[in-house]
Amino acid sequence: MPETKKHVAICGGGLVGAMMACYLAKRGYKVDIYEMRPDIRLMDVVRGRSINLALSCRGREALKGVGLEAEIVKNVIPMRARMIHDLNGKRRPIPYGTKDQYIMSIDRRNLNELLLSAAEEYPDVRMFFSHKLISCDFHKGEAEFRNEKGDNIRTQVDFIIGTDGAFSAVRQQMMKLKLFDYQQVYIPHGYMELNIPPNNNNEFAMEANYLHIWPRNEFMMIALPNLDRSFTATLFMPFDMFESLDTEEKVMDFFKEKFPDSIELIGAEELTKTYMSSKALPMVSIKCKPYHVGNKCVILGDAAHAIVPFYGQGMNCGLEDCIVLNELLDSYNDDLTQALPEYTRMRHPDATAISDLAMYNYIEMRSHVNSTMFLLRKQLDNI
Ligand code: FAD
Repeated sequence: MPETKKHVAICGGGLVGAMMACYLAKRGYKVDIYEMRPDIRLMDVVRGRSINLALSCRGREALKGVGLEAEIVKNVIPMRARMIHDLNGKRRPIPYGTKDQYIMSIDRRNLNELLLSAAEEYPDVRMFFSHKLISCDFHKGEAEFRNEKGDNIRTQVDFIIGTDGAFSAVRQQMMKLKLFDYQQVYIPHGYMELNIPPNNNNEFAMEANYLHIWPRNEFMMIALPNLDRSFTATLFMPFDMFESLDTEEKVMDFFKEKFPDSIELIGAEELTKTYMSSKALPMVSIKCKPYHVGNKCVILGDAAHAIVPFYGQGMNCGLEDCIVLNELLDSYNDDLTQALPEYTRMRHPDATAISDLAMYNYIEMRSHVNSTMFLLRKQLDNI
């Protein structure tokens, strides 16, 4: 525990920000979380990205570190294998590993809410919702926010943490500094979510403990199970293909040809209705360096490394960032002058590798899983 309590402003109360707040509060820091959105725990509908996420080992370890693993793992659905849907409607499983190895489908909103509530239980955590970061002065450790009334609020702290996602305002401030490297790539594919409701018996309409994949080489659809026995299906496809399906007839013909078994699962009417009323959303891959500014600021999660979702590792990697930073604070006795540069040095190559693997895995998921060689290799792996 530090002798005088360090005071930190965490900008962004998403998955990674709320998790880092728990780690730092546990260390005895005074933590203020500033979140642009209102408190999601009080909202009826939360707009945003994917409804459910695949939680794997990295994320689980991070939850364990703040004593939340058991509670959170109660509300997940294990996915033990991929379930490949062929064009003729045949399904074949490809296990992820041995029988006791699996990833878990988890509800994004539920996880975020649990993490915020866990952070709030620490006496030295304060939360400021509807506060959007406008600017930072890294030299003074100052951050300025705009609240819902339009008032600007300034705070001075020992250091600032940016966990404000792929379009991070904290990172934008860092980009004005000398020797800051930045790279952003939009992939030519977008994604659209579709719902597969429970069947007439209120059961899962497909095998529950699988990550379902319809690999079609140039594009694909996946579906993850939800606790309410529905699945959230996500169609990944080049934007020009999304745009070319501009009538209900074209959408239906396309699904009949490419994903015939999914029509009954989604429901023909719902399928065309959702498709025609939704917009395909973009996916960006962002790399930058360094992740810190002196002893005054550090960025974690998507703010530091937005990753395409095909490896299911964006959130998991962001949660692991919290473990790494926490361990470095242990190693350097809470000396930020040493811990933050070391964080960049250690974390950047790992995050870059995960990002590259995620890019590669898109080709594996939509195409390689169709190949005979891939299947043979997997069968041998499992012997
Ligand atoms: P975010 O979740 O984006 O949170 C950032 C927070 O900061 C938000 O609450 C936002 O409101 C707030 N904010 C933004 N700007 C400001 C500001 N100026 N001031 C104050 N607050 C601000 N990852 C996985 O591990 N597994 C998966 O299966 C998976 N599937 C995915 C599927 C899709 C379709 C997509 C798009 C992503 C997926 N990801 C997955 C990635 C995952 O969603 C992200 O990596 C994760 O949400 C990053 O968490 P974060 O807290 O860093 O950022």
